Amino acid sequence: MRFYTGNKKTLMELAERVLKLKDEKNAVILAHNYQVPEIQDVADFVGDSLELARMAVGTDADLILFAGVDFMAETAKILNPEKRVVVPERDARCPMAEMLDLKTLLRAKREHPDARVVLYVNTMAEEKAEADAVCTSANADKIVNAMDSDKVIFGPDQNLAYYVKKRTSKEVILVPENGMCSVHHNMSLEELSKAKEQHPDAEVVVHPECIPEIQEAADRIASTSGMLRYCSESDSREFIIGTENGMLYRLKKELPEKSFYPLSKNAICENMKKNTLDKIFTALQREAPEIMLPEEVQGRALGGIERMMELSKRG
Ligand code: SF4
Repeated sequence: MRFYTGNKKTLMELAERVLKLKDEKNAVILAHNYQVPEIQDVADFVGDSLELARMAVGTDADLILFAGVDFMAETAKILNPEKRVVVPERDARCPMAEMLDLKTLLRAKREHPDARVVLYVNTMAEEKAEADAVCTSANADKIVNAMDSDKVIFGPDQNLAYYVKKRTSKEVILVPENGMCSVHHNMSLEELSKAKEQHPDAEVVVHPECIPEIQEAADRIASTSGMLRYCSESDSREFIIGTENGMLYRLKKELPEKSFYPLSKNAICENMKKNTLDKIFTALQREAPEIMLPEEVQGRALGGIERMMELSKRG
């Protein structure tokens, strides 16, 4: 698997310029696990949505550069309303986050007035503002279980909803009905069988955004932060990883003594890959494009994110 996405020497020179500029601007770079290696290497923190949301809180940097997709940068802004949050590429969007629109959500709330609303962090701020709590793939079951109602409206990922339903006695009402991340949803059992044939001793670790059949066939279902933890603690030396392939760089970097293989070589999120080191340099230089949100939406969305943080710290 090719890791760096350009000429390594040029990228290293560019990385040095990014780091120098970052210091001059007193900026912090937060990068999601699915970012290209050269971005992960210049980041102050690499992690999943929940880890990065936590890192964003209380940072003393004057500027936050968020390398991920739109809803993640919005979350960092919601948590740091006084800070400037910039992104390398405004068009790096999560198609799944856009599958849940406000109209559908409000209709579900009207139809189920006794239900609580738990939304996956992969939603836009306007929808988050309507949630009782936000969740990530690392804590979705825990947050749903913590709701003080037997009924929970949950969205937008149908596969994460399947994972949650298996771990709760709550009635889960899915909004929209068919939301999914195509990167995870398109991984097939055939690809898994082939990977297992090639690596018979490897443990299979998959993300809960994968289809139920793959979840059932896996040795472990985990968020990206959970994958790192699990692979580091497991006695196994080899793992087949079912998530976006940027995660393999993080795993190989953190656990060089172990081997990691992609479940599918096609598991690449084009949106995550719209960010480049060049664009990071330009965004730091111009302090743009900046994430701006209506104050009222920002305030209401904060409630659900804070609730998630409070509940995920418990137990
Ligand atoms: S990998 Fe899937 S869920 Fe993550 S940003 Fe890309 S489309 Fe969205």
